[in-house]
Order: sequence, then structure tokens, then C-alpha cells
Amino acid sequence: MLHSQKAKAHAACHALLAALPGQVYLPDSHDWHIASTELTNLYHAVEIWSKTCVLTPQCVFEPKTTLDLSNGVKLIKEHESLFAVRSGGHMAVPGAQSVDQGVMISMSNFHTKTLIRITLSPRLGPDNSGSTLAVNGGRYPMVGVGGVLLGGGMGYFAGQRGWSVDDIVGWEVVLADGSIVDVTASSDDPYSDLAWALRGGHNHFGIVTRFDMRTFPAGPAYGGLVAYGAAAEEQFFASLDAVYATTCRWGMGAGIPERLHNFTSIASEHVVFGSTELHDSWIDIPRSLASMATRDDRTLFWAITFKADRRAIDIVTELFYAGAVNELKHVEGLSLAISFQPLTVPYLTASKMKAGNLMGLDPDKDSGHFAGILFPTWKFEKDDEAVYGFTRKAAMAMEEQLRKLDLFNHTFTSMMQPRDRNLFGTHLARLQEIRAKYDPDGFIRDYLQHGFELASPGSPRSHGEL
Ligand SMILES: Cc1cc2nc3c(=O)[nH]c(=O)nc-3n(C[C@H](O)[C@H](O)[C@H](O)COP(=O)(O)OP(=O)(O)OC[C@H]3O[C@@H](n4cnc5c(N)ncnc54)[C@H](O)[C@@H]3O)c2cc1C
Repeated sequence: MLHSQKAKAHAACHALLAALPGQVYLPDSHDWHIASTELTNLYHAVEIWSKTCVLTPQCVFEPKTTLDLSNGVKLIKEHESLFAVRSGGHMAVPGAQSVDQGVMISMSNFHTKTLIRITLSPRLGPDNSGSTLAVNGGRYPMVGVGGVLLGGGMGYFAGQRGWSVDDIVGWEVVLADGSIVDVTASSDDPYSDLAWALRGGHNHFGIVTRFDMRTFPAGPAYGGLVAYGAAAEEQFFASLDAVYATTCRWGMGAGIPERLHNFTSIASEHVVFGSTELHDSWIDIPRSLASMATRDDRTLFWAITFKADRRAIDIVTELFYAGAVNELKHVEGLSLAISFQPLTVPYLTASKMKAGNLMGLDPDKDSGHFAGILFPTWKFEKDDEAVYGFTRKAAMAMEEQLRKLDLFNHTFTSMMQPRDRNLFGTHLARLQEIRAKYDPDGFIRDYLQHGFELASPGSPRSHGEL
């Protein structure tokens, strides 16, 4: 089976090479070597954030235009080859953006950025890693627009504007049969069902070559990144209570530095990655984080969502750190962090006022929440199984304890969760219908690699069995 997949991928690569010369890189070519070892334009084609995700595709296809991509997709389909799509390469799910026995499509050439005067919606290619325009994107400059805007998107402006997907007003998409469609958020758009599915539905519906987003004015901003060590525990958790009190109930406004004094006054054991000060422009904050977003280690993100409640924070922290001390002490180069991302009522309210999405939290029913991102980093492949196994077990134990206290929320923080669970909740059946409509032959379903399956709960995640 693997052999035949490899043979099909090999044939697809050579067909691509013949039809689209200059856009295809084979593993034994000089360009491939440069691509994998040096900082050139092509470096982007294979650089991936976590080493667990670095695979060896049979070729890298870097289409120059949407039409090239469309023709390439038709060829890949004709040869029945597995394939993967990579934008920023930051989804820490092995196999989400690359594939050993297939073609990796790199979106590196899709970095257009156009301001459309009438609608003031900038058109962004999925590989724009940063922007001086105020759009509601993610927080790190190296993370790909493609993955963020297909998965939800938590950014600096979330408290005012909701999820990133809430600010998308249009998409250009290459569908499974290679056709190119323009989708708008308008309710009378013939693709309005696709528009809904693209607001959090990942890569199950096509390859997006352009996102049209709303812009808005943004002035100076206070912010930065600080990581606290164990000695800061008490003060840090007291500060999370303060974040809950300020952001979950009343929202962020003027005077943030004073409100966050609990954080800024923690003296012990912390590392400042981006200076926490008032910046002339908000864009200075993501820029100051550039070095954080490219790493050379094996990493994993695992999100667990719970009510903003001190008991929940204690459960998550205890099970993660205390458990790891016991079970992962042999893991070389292990570092553990939890990032508490507030999903505040103003955030959810701003989101609810827009066109709707798949993210699953409702401010009228749910109060403020945190997405706790469990974030282990380690050095060697030999420890992969131990770290994955431990993190999964810890997350399951957290879920069980949180459920007992009615603090758990199975919301959709799917950019960062394991792929074998139903992250789409009650939307699953409709999403599967929409997928069947736009991918009747199951080409994207079965041949494109996904970070998260559109599978019924309990389904095996292997291709073709959904
Ligand atoms: C250091 C770091 C910081 C992060 N910070 C944030 C943050 O602030 N806010 C936030 O919301 N998230 C954040 N994330 C999570 C991030 O949004 C997701 O991991 C996202 O999937 C990464 O997108 P990417 O394009 O870089 O990843 P990739 O790995 O390239 O792609 C992710 C998935 O999306 C698919 N995909 C990508 N582009 C396209 C496309 N054009 N068409 C179809 N499918 C596509 C890929 O096939 C893949 O399955 C962060 C992650 C890291 C590692």
C-alpha cells in the first residue's frame, strides 16, 4: 500500500514538474538541499515549527498563481496521490502540513496584500506572516495566515472583534476538482454554506488562496510576552483571578497597565520575551515576538477549555506539572509550559454580533473561559511516545475532574487539540454534508492530510473510513 502511494506520488511529482516547471522541488535536487538547510526563499517550503512535523514529501510544489495551483490539484487528483498543504507550518500536529508518501503544496508564493478601497478589506495570501494593517489576525508574526484563518484565530483584538474568522468577508478557494471559486460572506452568495464552513472548518473544503478581511484603525497598545517560573506560582494565579475580573466581566479598556499590575509586579523568576510596555503601534508587539515563533525542538500544543475559575486552574496545573515530574523525568530537554488564553465575555459577545462561526462558545450561556494550552517541548524522537501519552492522559484526567465540577467546556479550540476527537460538536453533520457537496469524490477527504478530522466521534481517523 505504502509502496503504491509512493509510486503514485512519484508519478504526480513528475507530472507536476513537466507541467509547471520551476514550481516543483524533488528531494535529490540542489534546490531541495538548499531548501532544507539554508535561509533562502525556499527555506519556507520545508521549515516547520515542530520537528515532530518534519516529514519527507516526495516533492514540494510551490504554485506561483491560483491557476497553477488549480492545474496542480487536477494533476495530483489524476494521479491519486496523497498531498498536504502548508502555509506557516506552525500546526504542531504531525502530518497536518506534510506527508512522506505524497506531495507537499507550499503556499509560500501567496503573499499578496491589497487594500480594496470600496470595502476596506485587505486581500491577504495565506503566507503573509505579518502585517502593518490592523486586521484581526493571530499574535505571532511567523505563524501562517492560512492555518490561523481556517482554524479560528485568537489575536490582540479579540476582546473588541472576536475570533479572526469573524472578520473574514471573502475567500478565493481551489476546490477538490481544481475549480476556482470566489466566496463571500453575503447571505445570498451561492457559496454561503461554504463561507460558514470556512469559519473554523480547517482544510476540509478546499485550498484557500486569498482571505478578504475587514480592517480597522489601531493606535498605541500595551503588551508583550512574559513567562513565569514555578516560584511565581501564587502571585501568578492570583493575577489570573484579576484577569478574569477585569477582562471576563468588564472587558479591556484604557488603563490596562494598572489593571494588570498584578502581573507586572511579579518579581520572581520570569523571562520577558517582548517588552511589556506601551508601544507606539500595536504591530511592535508581534514583531517583538518573532524569535519565539521559530523553534528547533519537538513540541506539542494541547488545548483544554474551562470556566475562568480558580479551581479549574488548580486542577489543570496540578495534573500537568505534578504528573510530568513523575512520568516524564527521563525525557531529555523537557520544558513544560501552560499558556492561559482568556476567552472573555466581551470577546465572545463581539464574535456573536458577526456572521457566525464554528467555535462553539456563547456569551449568553457561557461566562468567561480560559483555553489552557499545554505546551511540552522536548529534544529527541525516542521520547515522542512518552510525551504524547502523558499529555493525552493528563488532558483526559483534567477533563474528567473539570466535568465533575461543571467547569469543562468542549469548545472548539481546534487549532491546538488532538486530531482524533469530534471538535465540531453539533455542527458535524452539516459540515459533512457541505464537504460532500463540494468534494463529491472524496478527494480532499481521503487524499489531503488534515490536522483535524471531520469524523464522527469514535471513528478511526485513517483516510477513507470517515
Ligand atoms: C508559536 C505559535 C504561536 C501561535 N499563536 C497563535 C495565536 O496567537 N493565535 C492563534 O489563533 N493561533 C496561534 N497558534 C496556533 C496556530 O494558529 C495554528 O497552529 C495554525 O494552524 C497554524 O497555521 P499555519 O498556517 O502556520 O500552519 P500550517 O501547519 O501550515 O497549517 C495548518 C493547517 O491548516 C491547513 N492550511 C494552511 N493553509 C491553508 C490554506 N491556504 N488552504 C487550506 N488549508 C490550509 C494545513 O493543511 C494544515 O492542516 C500558534 C501556534 C504556534 C506554534
